[in-house]
Amino acid sequence: MQNPFPYSDDNKRYHTLYYHNKHTFGGRVYKAVLDGGFTCPNLDGTKGTGGCAFCDGGSGAFTKPLPITEQLSLEMRRIRKKVPDARAIAYFQVHTNTYAPVSRLHELYEEALRFPGIIGLSVGTRPDCLPEDVLDYLSELNDRTALTVELGVQTVHDRTAQRFGRGYDFAEFLQGYEKLQSRGIRTCLHIINGLPGELFPDMLETARVLGALKPQAVKLQLLHILQGTRYAESWRQGDITPMSQDAYMDTVVRQLEWFPPETVIERVTGDGEKAKLLAPLWSMDKISTLGGIDKLQAELDSYQSKAL
Ligand code: SF4
Repeated sequence: MQNPFPYSDDNKRYHTLYYHNKHTFGGRVYKAVLDGGFTCPNLDGTKGTGGCAFCDGGSGAFTKPLPITEQLSLEMRRIRKKVPDARAIAYFQVHTNTYAPVSRLHELYEEALRFPGIIGLSVGTRPDCLPEDVLDYLSELNDRTALTVELGVQTVHDRTAQRFGRGYDFAEFLQGYEKLQSRGIRTCLHIINGLPGELFPDMLETARVLGALKPQAVKLQLLHILQGTRYAESWRQGDITPMSQDAYMDTVVRQLEWFPPETVIERVTGDGEKAKLLAPLWSMDKISTLGGIDKLQAELDSYQSKAL
């Protein structure tokens, strides 16, 4: 069957990051994961102390962060073992990476951008941590490098967000998102499927509402139960049932139908730390999930944007 999806050079029926990088940067681009030593309003007492119920504080490899240049040396060595001349985006991933005075952000981001082979920045943050001076600096960065700001909205449903303790409501998310969009900053929205209290129609609604915002990118992920999180305790007590692989794949296929074709789907599976993963264990087999999504899309003649 012919692939009806336009932003694809192969059998993929969604706009992959691989396709985006190939057509934007002329080839594969990797992510160098960094820990800038930030905290989060959900951890430092500003909005809470326990963090979101699924959060283990990010998946950074460094418990006590090394200087950015040292982290990048390690990351680029890891990446260049596979591809000797690889280029990478410096990805400030751990906790809330705009939650510091702008002078500190400047030090960290500029150090990363000076590192050989780094061609852009990705900054994971919250919509309530984007004050005007930070937005001004991000705008300035946006003019001279490939910048993405990643927002972990996870769901559009406030009742779910209250349950896991996100610390801001959907209206506040929209304000932060619009501030980024009005400045032309590429924004990637994170969605988590399988959050306690949500059923298939809730997850589909999240995709429908976020798709209507026409984000430049999204990451679709599965709720991972990780050691040391509040959800780990609920799972042990039998209060949380993780999604099955079939239910997850079916949900993702239907969610993709609600995103515009231009939205880059940066991820359709989670990337939780294997050593900390308690459930669901099937999620460790990413190849099977990726292949299953492709197969299901073909069987259903489904593709990104089909519902629009
Ligand atoms: S906002 Fe992010 S870093 Fe902060 S507690 Fe929630 S998931 Fe963790």
